[in-house]
Amino acid sequence: MKRGKFIGGLIGCLVWAWTSAAGAGAAMDAKPASRASVLVCGGSMMNGSHFADSVLEVMREHYAGCRRVALVLHASHPSERAAMEKRLQAAFVHLLGAGVVAESVHHRDAAGAKTLLAEADGIFVGGGETFVLLAEMYRLGQLDVIRERVRAGVPFGGSSAGANVAGPVIGATNDFPTAEVPSTKALGIFPAVINPHYPLAESKAEFESRVYKIRTYLKFNPEESVCAMGNAAVLRLHEGRVTVRAGRVALYRASGVRELKVGEVVGELGR
Ligand code: ASP
Repeated sequence: MKRGKFIGGLIGCLVWAWTSAAGAGAAMDAKPASRASVLVCGGSMMNGSHFADSVLEVMREHYAGCRRVALVLHASHPSERAAMEKRLQAAFVHLLGAGVVAESVHHRDAAGAKTLLAEADGIFVGGGETFVLLAEMYRLGQLDVIRERVRAGVPFGGSSAGANVAGPVIGATNDFPTAEVPSTKALGIFPAVINPHYPLAESKAEFESRVYKIRTYLKFNPEESVCAMGNAAVLRLHEGRVTVRAGRVALYRASGVRELKVGEVVGELGR
């Protein structure tokens, strides 16, 4: 082989090896890290000032040992965040005992909020307006710090809008685009797109229009999976496996839909 050709071939091989490794890295990033503990709820998980009885057990298991939980409440209107924080503070004390502090990041500036997220031993993201929530997370630079914490094993919980942002994108939210977002890409710490407040089949018109919307979404995004989650339904990613822990969940994929059972490990969403 001529010297020029040999060097060209060698460079080609090196470029191929580098791009393959980079590609493999990107693909691995799309999968949840095995230390990640992520709980998503289809919404309406509170009963007054504590978590609903049906989710208490899994919430207690998920946040076991946490003493300081950072709350991300951007999805609610600024005028409602203090009251929401108070309710969640009471709910976490009811869940984990006296001495637990649940503190909202909204009292702090951007740097202070990141410090709280970096120091807390649990993270909870509340519901409300999904686009406002994600826009604020981008504006305040909170996506990366939350991802890092989750990768390090800090338990993350999100309800409704808070569950939407755990997925790779917020594509199946029920919300209007109330705020401008730089991208619909979200945390990507849970391996499916979430559709919260999935209605009961008995509410015929609402149910049929929701099914139509999810199917249409998948027609345009056939590589994605959508978890349609009823109120107070819970999925938990732990040790690389997603388990249905409460309520009604349907897994929609381009190939069809499957109703999931409480207690089942969702093979389609595993490693
Ligand atoms: N607005 C909902 C919530 O957070 C989110 C959704 O339905 O997509 O309650």
